[in-house]
Parts: sequence; C-alpha cells; structure tokens
Amino acid sequence: MKITKLEPFILHVPVTRQGIADSTHQISHWGYPGVIIHTDTGHKGYGFSGTHAELAGDRIIVDFITNVYGPLLIGEDPRATNHLWQKLYRHPPSQWIGRAGISHLALGAIDIALWDLKAKEAEKPLWQLLGGSDTKSVEAYNTDCGWLNWSFDELVSDAKDSVERRGFPGIKMKVGSPNPTTDLKRIEAVRKAIGPEIKLMVDANGKWDLNTATRIGNKFADYDILWFEEPIWYDDILGHQELAASISTPIALGEQLYSADAFTAFINARAVSFCQPDVVRVAGITEWLVVADLASAHNLPVVSHVGDMMQVHLHLAQSHPATNHLEYIPWCRKAFVEPATVESGFFVTPQEPGAGTTFSSEAFEKFNVL
Ligand code: MG
Repeated sequence: MKITKLEPFILHVPVTRQGIADSTHQISHWGYPGVIIHTDTGHKGYGFSGTHAELAGDRIIVDFITNVYGPLLIGEDPRATNHLWQKLYRHPPSQWIGRAGISHLALGAIDIALWDLKAKEAEKPLWQLLGGSDTKSVEAYNTDCGWLNWSFDELVSDAKDSVERRGFPGIKMKVGSPNPTTDLKRIEAVRKAIGPEIKLMVDANGKWDLNTATRIGNKFADYDILWFEEPIWYDDILGHQELAASISTPIALGEQLYSADAFTAFINARAVSFCQPDVVRVAGITEWLVVADLASAHNLPVVSHVGDMMQVHLHLAQSHPATNHLEYIPWCRKAFVEPATVESGFFVTPQEPGAGTTFSSEAFEKFNVL
C-alpha cells in the first residue's frame, strides 16, 4: 500500500449556536483545513486540524501539508504511522522553522489521515484497531451550554435543560470575566439549578493572572467544582504549580500544549491534575497516544479537548484506559458521515471503519472554501 496523492481542503462549518464566546475567543465557524490522502489500493484517509476559520491562516496550514510535507509522503506506506510522524517532525528544514504552531497543526492533519487510512484498510473502527472494547462506556459532559456571553437566565436554563431533559451527567461553564465576582454568582446559580450530584467544571481559557486565579479559585470548593480549566496563561508552568499548591480544586489544562515534552514539564511540576491533549494540537493521534500513556503512567486522567469536534477523540477515549470522559460540542456533527452521538449521557460507540473523520459529500459541497 503506497501513498499516491494528497488532496487538500478547507471546510468552514457554521457553528450551530451563533455568537458564542468565552473569555478569549468569539466564533461563528469552525475551520477544518485538511487533507485526503489517496493510495494505490483505492483507500482514502481523511485528516484535518481544527481552527477558528480564518481563511488566510487555514491556507497556510494546507500549504504546509501539500508543499512541505507532501513530497515526503508520496510512495510511503501510510500504515507506518510512527515512522512517518518522525520523518516529518524531524525533517530538518521544517523542524528549523517550527516544532509547534502551523507546522504542527499540518502534521496533525496528516497523521490523523494516516490513522484513518490504517483503520479503514484493517476494516475496523479506530478504537478497535487500538485495542478498545465496545463494553466501555465513555461519559459525556456538555460544554455547549455554559458560554460566557450567555445571559444569566439563559445560562441557568441551558444548564438545567442539559441535565434534566438531555441527561448529561456533567456540564462545563466558562469563567474569566473582567469582574470575577460575576462568575461566582453565575456558578452559584448553576450549581443550585443542577443540584449536588451533577459534575460541574469551570474554564477561564487562560484569561486570569495568578492572583485572580488564586483568589477566585479558593472559592470554587464551595460549589464542588470538579476542575478549574486553563486558569492562567497556557505556558506558565511555575504559575500553575503555585496555583495547584494553593487551591483545593484540581487544575485541568493542555488544549494549548503542542507536545508530550510540554505535558511532561507540567506533570513533573505537579501543576496539572486533568490532562487535556487535543489531537489536532499535538500533531495527531501518534503524539496523543504518547501524552495519554504519559498521563496514565502518572495515574492522571485524560479528558481531551475536542478541537476535532469529538470525532477522533471518541475513538481514542473508547480505546485508552486513561480516558473515560469526553466533552460534547455538537456544532459540526452534521458534516460527518458518522457523527459522534450522545444518548442518556454516554457516547454511542462508533461502528464505521476508520477514525470517524470522513465528511459527507454534502459537507464538501456546502462548506469547502479552498
Ligand atoms: Mg477549554
């Protein structure tokens, strides 16, 4: 089996709930700059990154995929995922200009397409290829109910609806307001609305400084917050270490980290309790598995950030022992042939061969902007 052609694409899928915002981002579309990898056997693998759909940036990512990495892939066996990841990552000219950022997102898209191919060729869903079992249940928590720009009433009714009508066992809400006492009032109201049994997480998207995160984070224990996500600037290891030592609520982070090296540094500093790698950020499934094994070796849970909008991470959660929970963000579900689906608070196990990354032909017709 040999790679014969790379076919780039950029899909911009409108988010299903318009005008959502957290403390740092405002989003109207989710971007999928990606690639279809063709082979001499007729199998095709779909892989992509996940972005905020800025066309100029997405064009650079697909340019990197086709023009920098593409020539290194033609003629290779796509099933040699470790070999190809190392070949691309350590390719001296691209290593020189970036071991993170755009080059890494490009590598992630390729790696995901290779794993999709590998699973399709084996005629198995990826989770099965990776040694998972359909007897495992992956619990969902709803992120798409707690946006920072939701009004107080909208937030509370959405949280309540997620739990009472839709059956989610957990929800996450955004914090990081300029006036953090507003956040505390919103947390108090949500906790009251959903009751004591439901898991409640908060996410500041890196917005606060250490003093604010410590002061406000100290009050989270009153509301039984399961984790405090991205409390301060993403790369500040010592700041997170200090925070972790001063508040009782565990810290979650990782959606902005690019490598297993970065996770190693946070874990060694005891600065993280819940590891949140994102397969599109850490350059694909190959490196995600390294991060998940690393977390597992330190007895830390993995709760992935779904920059792929759940598809790949569901297969990984179904197979890896470190991960039992996954966030639910349904914005792009309809673009996929087999969308990630939640029933009664748990994800339905995917059945189609591959990594769940195949888009419908309708999605290509409607959303391709390349
Ligand atoms: Mg987050």
